[in-house]
Amino acid sequence: MSYVFNPAPQVSVPVVGRAERFPVRRIYCVGRNYVEHAKEMGFTGREAPFFFFKPADACVVVPAGETGTIRYPSLTRDLHHEIELVACIGTGGKNIKAADARKHIFGYAVGLDMTRRDLQGEQKKLGRPWEIGKSFEESAPIGPVVPAAQAGDIENAEIWLQVNGKDRQRSTVSKLIWNIGEIIEHLSTAWELAPGDLIFTGTPEGVAAVVAGDTLVGGVSGLPELRVRVA
Ligand code: MN
Repeated sequence: MSYVFNPAPQVSVPVVGRAERFPVRRIYCVGRNYVEHAKEMGFTGREAPFFFFKPADACVVVPAGETGTIRYPSLTRDLHHEIELVACIGTGGKNIKAADARKHIFGYAVGLDMTRRDLQGEQKKLGRPWEIGKSFEESAPIGPVVPAAQAGDIENAEIWLQVNGKDRQRSTVSKLIWNIGEIIEHLSTAWELAPGDLIFTGTPEGVAAVVAGDTLVGGVSGLPELRVRVA
């Protein structure tokens, strides 16, 4: 087969302990999935889970022990960090039950759902889609994938983010409103999951702005830290 121009390269993430990489297909993100974060965004009460997408090429893949770089994006004056646990799908399916979800997960990674909060806020007010606030280039820094069997007790892992060495976000994955199995159950009623799909599972409270020159270090216990500098 030939193309009228070279196709974009396949986005992929290194896998801890393996030479083979994890090829990324889609990026699903869950909105407002920790109680204290929903509150800081002005919402209370349990709502049904809802989802948005980022393009696969929004990934900034950061190998273990390295520091990735993101450029401060256009149009915004309020670029926010959201540290998130990322579930990486290895086996696809539709209408997956929460109790069976584990079998579909290849592994886990640490990700950042970088957000142009001012633009997202304007879209919310207008009842418009969030893409301009969420789905821009370099909006999804991600660290290596750890195979599920080596990731430890991920449902109870600590999740945290520091900016320039100071705590910004610190919580535990056990505080997810919709846990990973429930997210996969809901998602797979609406879309057919496939190998290579990433699910950003939501961020805990403490989201705030970063500026050029800041260094973000985030983690989920059991997974390699994610280090990113804002250029
Ligand atoms: Mn998020």
